[in-house]
Amino acid sequence: MFTLCVKDSFAAAHRLVGYKGKCEELHGHNFAVEVYLTGDRLGDDGMLVDFKTIKTNLQKVLDVLDHKYINDIPFFAERASSAECVAMYIFTEMEKLMGGERVSVSRVTVWESEKACASYER
Ligand SMILES: [Zn+2]
Repeated sequence: MFTLCVKDSFAAAHRLVGYKGKCEELHGHNFAVEVYLTGDRLGDDGMLVDFKTIKTNLQKVLDVLDHKYINDIPFFAERASSAECVAMYIFTEMEKLMGGERVSVSRVTVWESEKACASYER
């Protein structure tokens, strides 16, 4: 099995509705994102999938989040805009874009700060 990882980042605002603490107030983060893809069959070029393809798709997904108020995005209408749910959102959006490749999205990690991250994996 091979695993690829592409990193990127975005800046966005959110608030954790009902949270007892500072994060209930509107605030922002510079989120760092890692997307992991796995597969066991390489192409004739020796690659699982071109990094360029992953980077382009991740960029498309992060464009929706960048400089936005995350709570306003429909996916977050019925769930918290926590790092956990942001990871799940990026995972499901990346899955839609990477469909048909020899790879599957295996994990998305979202760093909310340099010290704290959340991952969603399947
Ligand atoms: Zn926050």
